[in-house]
This record gives sequence, C-alpha cells and structure tokens, in this order.
Amino acid sequence: DVDVPESHPRYESLLTRHRIEAGVDAGITSRQGLIAQGRGEAYDYLLGEATIDSADRAERAAAAYLLGADHAVVSVNGNAAALVPGELVELAAATGADLEVNLFNRTEERIERIADYLREHGADEVKGLTADGRIPGLDHERAKVDADGIGDADVVLVPLEDGDRAEALGELGKTELVVDLNPLSRSARAATVPIVDNIIRAIPGITAHARDLADDADAQRAAIERFDADAALSDAEAAIRGGV
Ligand code: ATP
Ligand code: MG
Repeated sequence: DVDVPESHPRYESLLTRHRIEAGVDAGITSRQGLIAQGRGEAYDYLLGEATIDSADRAERAAAAYLLGADHAVVSVNGNAAALVPGELVELAAATGADLEVNLFNRTEERIERIADYLREHGADEVKGLTADGRIPGLDHERAKVDADGIGDADVVLVPLEDGDRAEALGELGKTELVVDLNPLSRSARAATVPIVDNIIRAIPGITAHARDLADDADAQRAAIERFDADAALSDAEAAIRGGV
C-alpha cells in the first residue's frame, strides 16, 4: 500500500502516483493511464503543484456553467475515478450533474468496476453502461455514450479527455469544461472552459465555487463573463515557462 512519509517534499505527488498504481491493480485504470499521469505530473511540477489564479477563475466559471445547465454531466474515466472518486460524487451532488463513465479504452468490465467504485463512494446512479448514443465523427468504440447522459447534456465536464473526443464534443455545440494540466493539448484548446490544474485540486475547487455560487444567478453570470479561455491558456503557458 501507500508508504510515503508525510514529511516527504513531494508527498502529494507520490500519493497521487500510488493511487493510479492501485487503480491499475484494481482494474479501474488502464495501463495507458500511467503514461497520462506521468505527463500530467511533469506539467504540475512546472506549475509549482498549485492552483494558479486563472485556473481558480476557470473553476469558478465551470461551477457556474454546471449550476446553470439544463442537463450537466460529469464524465469519469479510469484516472479520474482512481484519483478523486468521492470528490466527483460530491461535485455531482453539489451541482445536480449526472455521473457518466466514459472510457478511451472502453471495456464493459472496466466500466462496471468504475461504476461500482463510484457507488462505494456514495454515488447512486452512474451512467455509461447503456451506450445507446453516439458522438458523430468518431470511430465506433470511441463514439459510445449514453443517449440520456452525455448524448443529451448541454454542459459536460470532461477531466483528462483525449483530444479527438474533446473536439467532437465541442462540435456538437455542447459547453465543454476540460481539466487538463497541458495548456497546449487539443483537449484544453477545444474547451469552452479549460481548467489547467491537477484534477486532485480542480474537482474540490469547482465544488467549493458551486456551493458559493448556488442560488445566486448574478454571481454565476459574472463568473462566466469574467472568464476568458484564451487568456487562461496563455496565462498557464506563461506560468509553466516561468514568465509569471
Ligand atoms: P492531446 O489532447 O494533445 O490530443 P492526448 O489527449 O492524446 O493529447 P494523453 O496523454 O491521453 O494525451 O492526455 C493526458 C492529458 O491529461 C495530458 O495532457 C496530461 O497533462 C493530463 N493529465 C494527466 N494527469 C492529470 C491530472 N492528475 N490532472 C490534470 N490533468 C492531467
Ligand atoms: Mg489531451
């Protein structure tokens, strides 16, 4: 299990890595998820392993979009489930969003395991197994979604989504909220709201903003109006390059 002393200077980062390893062992996370985690860690290191101001504004805008949606869905993949299962359930509860398992390397077995894992962390309904909807423009396996989930949603939060699917969802006219530590990735660039932050910090951050913004339509509108996606991406890139 996890055996890292809390005094270790990179405690959080090592704990995160262990959760992904455990996710692979439990059949929740794919082996490719280990590579994605490595890429994310490198960017997080360069960002100082902290939520930069523009990412905090993005989390607030994301919360406002989720609260204002007709039908919001939080998409969950194997890395997200391994890292923040309880936090995803809390976010869905705080915003009224559905949870839908949505995998790049899709297997029924892994979807079942992730759904079970989310239920162990307090979720009641978890979508993703019906897979009776399709995202146009993607090959068969990549295209599968639930017709009454992501298929029907006007706002979708996709943490760590792959570039092709992020672009295809954007083309469907859905408001897309993406958590991705790489501001240059196609996923971040396709997003209405790119959140350049570690999912470990981003999901609780969005939930805190959602609680703050609940029942305040003016504040929700202001959070959306204040947010500029291009400026946020440039700001994150500058922070990574050491320019701020
Ligand atoms: P592109 O979007 O350019 O097509 P990709 O989607 O093919 O790239 P992947 O390696 O599949 O590339 O994507 C993983 C992405 O998730 C990387 O951009 C990485 O920075 C990001 N990532 C990994 N772990 C985390 C994390 N814990 N929090 C936030 N983002 C993360
Ligand atoms: Mg990507």
